[in-house]
Amino acid sequence: MPELPEVEVILNQLRSHILESTIKEFHVQRSDIIRIGLSSRQWYLGTQITDLIRKGKSLIFTCRKNQLTRYMLAELGMTGLFLFQSASTGYDKHIHLTFTLEQSNEATLHYWNPRRFGRVYLLDAEQLAHFTQRRFGIDPLSLTQEKFHELIHNSRGRMKAFLLNQHKLAGIGNIYANEILYDARIHPYAQGYRLSRAAIARLYGSTQNILQQAIISGGSSIRDFRAPDGSRGHFQQQHVIYQKAGHPCPRGCSKIIKRLTSERSSFYCPSCQKRT
Ligand SMILES: [Zn+2]
Repeated sequence: MPELPEVEVILNQLRSHILESTIKEFHVQRSDIIRIGLSSRQWYLGTQITDLIRKGKSLIFTCRKNQLTRYMLAELGMTGLFLFQSASTGYDKHIHLTFTLEQSNEATLHYWNPRRFGRVYLLDAEQLAHFTQRRFGIDPLSLTQEKFHELIHNSRGRMKAFLLNQHKLAGIGNIYANEILYDARIHPYAQGYRLSRAAIARLYGSTQNILQQAIISGGSSIRDFRAPDGSRGHFQQQHVIYQKAGHPCPRGCSKIIKRLTSERSSFYCPSCQKRT
């Protein structure tokens, strides 16, 4: 958290408010947040933000100045947010980076993170290529059904772990992995290579639908997720299985179960998500 849909919501707002703006000031309140490239931060002054993209759960800013290009890759971790000044949380001690912008709808952008698991990397093109190649699998939203089938069919281990593996599929975290598996009626511990073609097709459809629906709903505002303008998502109201242990399965079968595996909670219905 934030997972793919929340980061996509952040991206869309940043694109509509600060794309093409110029960085006038770049204030670093906590230098340990910048994992690579701290010494290059002065270079970013006077650069124009010419592109913004999402890679998995991370955001990449393209910054240009005098025909030169560098990048800023921001991981948000469990609790990180980008917030405009107007959306100030009142907890300013958690602001780690501040950008003052010109030619922008928003004069200030904060990188805010109370738990400090997020990291920021200031990279040149070569470093960025190396970093993204090493860390990010395929984006689930740009994946064809054929390629998805191939990935699952060749996978070993539990489906839940597969969906969470950022080196395979980049962007899905624990909330959406649970919701997707329930929607597709697949047990979290099912083995990918043993799934039928029909089951993999259902899983593909559920992955696309749930991620798209969540983006349309502004993401899930649990752990206080907010978009840069401070607005909250409401997809949490459509969660069917996540954090619903003990509730009856909405399909009318038995109660939803919670199981813990390596600190991530799996929620599933033992009746309609049979282990094959
Ligand atoms: Zn059920």
